Amino acid sequence: MSNQMKALVKARAEVGLSMERAPVPEIGAYDVLIRINKTGICGTDVHIWNWDDWAQKTVPVPLITGHEFAGEIVELGKNVDDLTIGQRCSGEGHLIGKKSRQSRAGKFHLDPETRGIGVNEQGAFAEYLRLPAFNVMPLPDEIDDDIGAILDPLGNAVHTALSFDLVGEDVLVTGAGPIGIMAAAVARHVGARHVVITDVNQDRLDLAARVVDLFPVNVAKQELREVEGALKMSQGFDVGLEMSGNQMALDQMVENLVMGGRIALLGIPPGKSPVDWSRIVFKAITIKGVYGREIFETWYKMIAMLQNGLNVRDVITHRFDVDDFCIGFEVMRSGLSGKVVLDWNKLNSST
Ligand code: NAD
Ligand code: ZN
Repeated sequence: MSNQMKALVKARAEVGLSMERAPVPEIGAYDVLIRINKTGICGTDVHIWNWDDWAQKTVPVPLITGHEFAGEIVELGKNVDDLTIGQRCSGEGHLIGKKSRQSRAGKFHLDPETRGIGVNEQGAFAEYLRLPAFNVMPLPDEIDDDIGAILDPLGNAVHTALSFDLVGEDVLVTGAGPIGIMAAAVARHVGARHVVITDVNQDRLDLAARVVDLFPVNVAKQELREVEGALKMSQGFDVGLEMSGNQMALDQMVENLVMGGRIALLGIPPGKSPVDWSRIVFKAITIKGVYGREIFETWYKMIAMLQNGLNVRDVITHRFDVDDFCIGFEVMRSGLSGKVVLDWNKLNSST
């Protein structure tokens, strides 16, 4: 193996990413080296590409970006004895510390010292990724690399959707981005009664309806109440999954929830936004903030659900060879796509 590889790097403090040569990472005793096969482009990567305020404050330069991946283990650290070379895998991109009370209690996803690959640490948009063996999630044969590359956002969807009991419940998902659509698929899979998804982007709603058996509502054109009436829902939704980060969507969710309803918030608003707290108090609504995925409970649950009929494949709308990453990012930035997956096997390593 050459000790050089190609990687998609935020090389300068400006808009865009570039394909650069970088050293193949050296692994420590408890790490593995993963050869990357496929990667997913995330909204976070688009923020980093756009070099917005958040990215400028968060991302060190230079940095190999990317955190959604599927690949194969090609090297084991000397103390790694529970994984094998050739094992196909994805992995948790949150690198956790082991010192906090939360970590010591086994609540790894709540560790305050978490660092993200492709955000704070060298990432997965590369031929090779170093990852602690602890973070590796082996992939069963029936989960191919396309799905392996989107397990990270599917994990966000699963963790959010499983925040509350959905069996027999009427569920409102606001925001038909890739994560909203996958959360709707999970709600349907685990036995929700009605699943309604809202957006203001008709393409996204059309995609949602192709992927999941649900009721899409374009809230720029249609009243949510009309749909509730058509579905014979008399008191509103039982559970809301907020997946847009949009203030109006949250307001609408609170307005359309039953007394005692429950909301899981995954969407990240761009800044501080006004909330009608008295409405939330008088409706006795429970709100849960959701960050990342449970390490590793969400991973086990989502793999089990995928093996048991959960189908999110059609949320991947575009596949490109990684040499065409610029087109991939353009498609993501257009808002007209679902997930975009890049194939690293066809990389032109010579240039
Ligand atoms: P996305 O930006 O692709 O999708 C958001 C969707 O919300 C878009 O389709 C947009 O048109 C829609 N929207 C805008 N205004 C709306 C309104 N008034 N009503 C309904 N929908 C509206 O995002 P994504 O990649 O699917 O991620 C979903 C959200 O989750 C984003 O806010 C993202 O930042 C956040 N996120 C959070 C975490 C976490 O750990 N908390 C992790 C990943 C993503
Ligand atoms: Zn992601």
